[in-house]
Amino acid sequence: MPRAARLRLALQTREQHIRREKATSNVCTAQVLLGVMAGMYAVWHGADGLRRIAERAHRLASVAAAGFGDAGVEVCNDTWFDTLRARVPGGARAVAAAAADRGYNLLVVDDDHLGISFDETHGPEAVEAVWSAFGVTASLDALETTAPSGIPEALERTEPLLEHAVFSRYRTEHEMLRYLRRLADRDLALDRTMIPLGSCTMKLNATTEMEPVTWNEVANLHPFAPVDQVQGSLRMIRELETALCAITGYDAVSLQPNAGSQGELAGLLAIRAYHRQKGDHDRTVCLIPSSAHGTNAASAVMAGMSVTVVACDRDGNVDLDDLRRQVDATGERLAALMVTYPSTHGVFEEEIRDICEIVHAGGGQVYLDGANLNALVGLAKPGEFGADVSHLNLHKTFCIPHGGGGPGVGPVAVRAHLAPHLPNHPLSGEAGPASGVGPISAAPWGSAGILPISWVYIALMGADGLRMATKLAILTANYVAARLGPHYPVLYAGAKGRVAHECILDLRPIKDASGVTVDDVAKRLMDYGFHAPTMSFPVAGTLMVEPTESESLAELDRFCEAMIAIRGEIERVESGEWPADDNPLCNAPHTAEDVTADGWSHPYPREVAAFPVRELRNAKYWPPVGRIDAAHGDRNLVCACPPVEAFAG
Ligand SMILES: *Cc1c(COP(=O)(O)O)cnc(C)c1O
Repeated sequence: MPRAARLRLALQTREQHIRREKATSNVCTAQVLLGVMAGMYAVWHGADGLRRIAERAHRLASVAAAGFGDAGVEVCNDTWFDTLRARVPGGARAVAAAAADRGYNLLVVDDDHLGISFDETHGPEAVEAVWSAFGVTASLDALETTAPSGIPEALERTEPLLEHAVFSRYRTEHEMLRYLRRLADRDLALDRTMIPLGSCTMKLNATTEMEPVTWNEVANLHPFAPVDQVQGSLRMIRELETALCAITGYDAVSLQPNAGSQGELAGLLAIRAYHRQKGDHDRTVCLIPSSAHGTNAASAVMAGMSVTVVACDRDGNVDLDDLRRQVDATGERLAALMVTYPSTHGVFEEEIRDICEIVHAGGGQVYLDGANLNALVGLAKPGEFGADVSHLNLHKTFCIPHGGGGPGVGPVAVRAHLAPHLPNHPLSGEAGPASGVGPISAAPWGSAGILPISWVYIALMGADGLRMATKLAILTANYVAARLGPHYPVLYAGAKGRVAHECILDLRPIKDASGVTVDDVAKRLMDYGFHAPTMSFPVAGTLMVEPTESESLAELDRFCEAMIAIRGEIERVESGEWPADDNPLCNAPHTAEDVTADGWSHPYPREVAAFPVRELRNAKYWPPVGRIDAAHGDRNLVCACPPVEAFAG
């Protein structure tokens, strides 16, 4: 358990290390939902329950193996846990068909071999059905007691597992429910407040979109189910691909990548394969402007390319002179430019077509990072700007919940010349072109189970609805920029003084004048009941706000008013009324324990700490912990498990 706890914390902090060419990971989409589900499975069942489940699956496999042995069907493995490989020379496909008739899918390894796995959803009837598909008649009753185990003694686990109290505490539904509720109450999630994280598009995940994910036909489909059993899913996948081609202006889409960053890797592998096919083996340099998302550089390195950073001008746009210089200097080694559009600075760069032309003239391909498509859908198509390939983030623009909410889908979309180099899959001929670059994720269609969310979103919105959503997303970002601009300088804007889907609030001058930092403002927002915007990305010392079309005017105003009130508090620090080291900002967030303590020595009242605006009296989110030293915590992972001695006796 200690190891697992450390791993969880380590994963939680990895996003912090996406630092362009210094990045250690290119994934920022969390798999938290899956981690939580697996964790809660263990919390509910505990060590005993998991052991019982495992022993049962193993017993079924052992009984099946014994029945095969008695009937002369060769079992290839000497040892097993839950999976057997049976040999039926020349007969594998016929046996698999007979099993399918009985409601069970076996894995056809080749013409002679079948794979059979048992799990906790199976009972003895599954063993009998499989036997019958093989033409085996055996006695369950007899074998149940006599079948030998397939686990070698040396591999039997003897040390205890899941010793933390959490794995034995919740054994009634009441207790479990309350435990989950307690955890959820600590979370400042979308069900309480807007989460204005710039570059993350935390928009509405509508109930209608989410519901199909729970349907048996979707939720319980095996990723390698035979193609003739998944025609409905394939149709949905094709329709979604077609819609995404129409939206982006590209010719082909692969839904296999599980994250935007995986889409980037897939797109860059396609570019490399394209160059190689033309004999250009040395085209391995990827130019990346400093305004690009941090994953881009990390993906380029993963794809075996080297990264050269292109400068941006004062307005945050790609510096065309520097781009030309770099393209010339790179010469025949130029593989690609990766440009984020609209840029992570939150502006539509007017020179995007010129940028594409310069790179094409140098023999490179243009990778346009389309994770920010929320500002483009229905209004403009990256495939028509001159770009060759983009990824989209269905878990941003197309409503799949993400962040703490679950797995992503980062489709990669390409123009026709790159289509032969999209991902494919050795176990599924339909999952990509035969000439493809191989699998980019384990399952042929990646996170297929959540595709209905985006399919439903597009179907319900229609072309007009999508266009309206984009316009609203741009409008809300500009509304926030216009309301907050007089209080916090907006760092970048386009030629007409407008932003795209997000705006960067520059707190650096405020810090110079008052000592109040972005961290202080972010933490203080929790006292006001808000999740902080993106901090110090892509520019250190700034906050990046992306409101999205999903937020109502009332919620936008609530946020703007909180930010304006915080600006007023900063002024009181600046004027010396509140000391720089003892004020509501640097002490934020204030927990219930803080404000109800017997002693209160701060120069501002408890009321200012907890209820800085009136409405909070009706609906207050209490931060569960006060300020911690986040950087220190990231670098000094500590296991919060009870010490080993606590388990003595
Ligand atoms: C979110 C984002 C990514 C990375 O997507 P993941 O799914 O987190 O890997 C890449 N580029 C941009 C512009 C993004 O906003």
